[in-house]
Amino acid sequence: MTFNTQPKASHFINGEYIEDTAGAPIDVIYPATGAVIARLHSATPAIIDKALNAARDAQKAWAAMSGTERGRILRRAADRMRELNHDLSVLETMDTGKPYQETSVVDATSGADALEYFGALAPSLTGEHIPLGDGNWGYTVREALGVCVGIGAWNYPTQIACWKGAPALACGNAMIFKPSETTPLCALKVAEILHDCGLPAGLYNVVQGYGDVGHALVSDDRVNKVSLTGSVPTGKKVYATAAEGMKHVTMELGGKSPLIIFDDADIENAVGGAILGNFYSSGQVCSNGTRVFVHESVQDKFLDRLCARLQSSVVMGDPLNDATNFGPMVSDRQRQIVMSYINKGLAEGARLVAGGSIVEGDGFYIQPTVFADVTDDMTIAREEIFGPVMAVLPFTDEAEVIARANATEFGLSAGVFTRDISRAHRVIAQLEAGSCFINSYNDAPVELPFGGSKQSGVGRENSKEAIKHYSQVKSVFVRMGDVEAPF
Ligand code: NAD
Repeated sequence: MTFNTQPKASHFINGEYIEDTAGAPIDVIYPATGAVIARLHSATPAIIDKALNAARDAQKAWAAMSGTERGRILRRAADRMRELNHDLSVLETMDTGKPYQETSVVDATSGADALEYFGALAPSLTGEHIPLGDGNWGYTVREALGVCVGIGAWNYPTQIACWKGAPALACGNAMIFKPSETTPLCALKVAEILHDCGLPAGLYNVVQGYGDVGHALVSDDRVNKVSLTGSVPTGKKVYATAAEGMKHVTMELGGKSPLIIFDDADIENAVGGAILGNFYSSGQVCSNGTRVFVHESVQDKFLDRLCARLQSSVVMGDPLNDATNFGPMVSDRQRQIVMSYINKGLAEGARLVAGGSIVEGDGFYIQPTVFADVTDDMTIAREEIFGPVMAVLPFTDEAEVIARANATEFGLSAGVFTRDISRAHRVIAQLEAGSCFINSYNDAPVELPFGGSKQSGVGRENSKEAIKHYSQVKSVFVRMGDVEAPF
């Protein structure tokens, strides 16, 4: 492997790579082999301080630029990311273990989409003129928040770095991004590309570290906004810390989403949706539809086609091989967590119909796994597994399945497969989830808001909605006549 995965330094601050080897080591492991492919260091207090000062010092001049100028830089960075797609995709594969077949069409490309979309929106971020009678009037100004902190999960390191960075920068903010300690490499490239394309120093900084570094950033008075992608327990901690300083938050958290397949569904498409919603990225996707409710009259047909497609079409192996469509878990730890859930599924009486085992040899591979006859109270139907484990639950009628689908503390996503257009909309309207799908699953175009309800999160990423979460409105009353005071 000649690809150089060791970055020039651990952090990217004020427009340059910077190292401080006093920080705790972070070994980056290629999930397909278990080999160490880079060593980085967690940020020391001095590094954190440097990033916060750089961001604070650069932000006001950036916000004072016209939206057109800001947007031009973001759009240039989008073009550059597309030009570099191959190398960025290889790096994403090395960082996460996801197959190149996926990363080459999803990661840098969706990051570029976000930069292009928010770059194009930047010039149109204006306020309103509001007539108030008697010749008086008011106006609103959409202002930047200031310094934003982005904290990433390990499954989509390039995409998350862009989904947070692009709207933040478009609105005139500075960003300090802390990648997951498990996949720290890709965000550095995003920072480098933004600066190569003209972003002034200090506006997009990358600081490495574990949870303590995230906490230090979230609790700092210089920070105005925090956007986290991570698990619900981490989200609760980060939200509470941000509340101490009354900071703005976006929380993109976990899920246990329902996918409902009615008896009139196109079964081949429904199987395809269930595969996308459970086995893409080896199941390490927050919005996955891991509770697959299948109408009892079509359950056997659904399971037959699902198992046949898994048997004939899964290509597990070297993620850099173009033919590979199923990669390893991101880490040995994550594989152990997933195996413990599989064992609980077996112990609690679910019927294993596919997979269920780790794959011996190098790397953290686990087979795509399907359980049938799952009941709502089983652990595998209640807790987020974050691995390739599908739970199939039979149902008999619409009202029953809606109630069961909603019986969870999570509310990230939900999907419905049916040929009945009225039923599709009627059911989706009743499902308690932020990002829903009809006859599809897990599409996430930048034009559509993405995010969760209930414990799955607060706020939305992507689309015009994200602008609201990276800006605030100032209102100004203008009196044209004399002031009438009581004395
Ligand atoms: P995690 O919660 O363990 O960590 C997320 C990030 O938070 C990491 O960068 C970590 O270092 C940091 N962190 C941990 N403790 C912190 C603290 N006290 N203060 C500040 N930062 C802290 O999540 P993970 O295991 O990396 O990712 C998997 C989880 O992320 C799953 O639950 C998944 O559903 C969720 N996720 C959600 C979305 C979404 O958009 N909703 C997308 C991807 C992943």
